[in-house]
Amino acid sequence: MTVKLYDMDSHLSEFSATVLSCENAVAVLDKTAFFPEGGGQTSDTGFIDGVKVLDVQIKDGVNYHYLEKDIETGKTVNCKIDWEERFRKMQNHSGEHIISGIVHSLYGYDNVGFHLSKTEMTMDFNGLLTRDDLLKIELLANKAVWENVKFNCYYPENLENLEYRSKLDLTEDVRIVEIEGYDRCACCAPHVNTSSEIGIIKILNFEKCKGGVRLWVKCGADALADYNLKYQNAIKISSLLCAEQDNIAEAVEKQLEIEGNLKYKITDLKRRLIAEKVNAFSGEGEITATFEADMDIKELQLYADSLYKKSGGIRAIFSGTENEYFFAIVGDEAPLQELFSKMKQSLNIRGGGRGSMVQGTVFASKADIVKIML
Ligand SMILES: [Zn+2]
Repeated sequence: MTVKLYDMDSHLSEFSATVLSCENAVAVLDKTAFFPEGGGQTSDTGFIDGVKVLDVQIKDGVNYHYLEKDIETGKTVNCKIDWEERFRKMQNHSGEHIISGIVHSLYGYDNVGFHLSKTEMTMDFNGLLTRDDLLKIELLANKAVWENVKFNCYYPENLENLEYRSKLDLTEDVRIVEIEGYDRCACCAPHVNTSSEIGIIKILNFEKCKGGVRLWVKCGADALADYNLKYQNAIKISSLLCAEQDNIAEAVEKQLEIEGNLKYKITDLKRRLIAEKVNAFSGEGEITATFEADMDIKELQLYADSLYKKSGGIRAIFSGTENEYFFAIVGDEAPLQELFSKMKQSLNIRGGGRGSMVQGTVFASKADIVKIML
């Protein structure tokens, strides 16, 4: 079995060890501070004698270090874990224990799912929590940080009489992580020594999940990075809208209202413009094709339909750029469908329609369209 240095000292980031074996770039050491993947947490990474450690797995008490290349068996090697990444995980994982302990004591729910990766931490509880509940839990969790309470990790002599979360069927080798006054839980991961190392605990989001609730939480360095990201966004929005940072939501609401009013005005103006065009239409010929700049499909439909209502025949309106036009064509069903069949035989058309209106996109030049239609 590998001696687990992380069990005894969670803050050990550099150590030397002897390589017991290394095959196909998988090394076993006599002792290690590299925490393996397990219990919802991804493994530590780092370097062994300058060779990158990509992953660490544990099986039957032996830690297997997956390396970028082989190292020499029998050699004493210098090992260095990626401390920034590890400490980040310790901050998050220890923060999770505080939240889970508080949720358990206030609501009696169990943590039934935990995931901690390089980018996010989630935790699932088997009962529902409201936004107000979460605000209360978050405040209590941060108070636990301010109180600078101790984390004690140990293997107890007498497990049977011990109350703890995540109670296991095992009777020995169960590692207990105790947060004075807040929680006692079975866990094999490295933790902070005292709660103040965690820094801020921030619940970012929650959603219902399998009859309970899933929380997205960031602690310490991750919470600070998240704050900075949101702060940068607030600065940018505040400057774009010339609004006080604390009032940017109101400023965005106001902006959306202005945008809504403008859209309404534009629609109204476009309708009036179409009405003018329809008025001016002299209605020559059974089939007409009109090309317009910058009309959307609804405007094309309205325009074609209004022309048809005024003068009958088959009225086609196109809008687009050279070789790609949106269109709407309105007419009596039989002659319209006959014309559209003819168009489809000769032109590349996407679209269709039954009855007295067809619409879609045609990939052809104005000259070719006119030649086929008229
Ligand atoms: Zn844990």
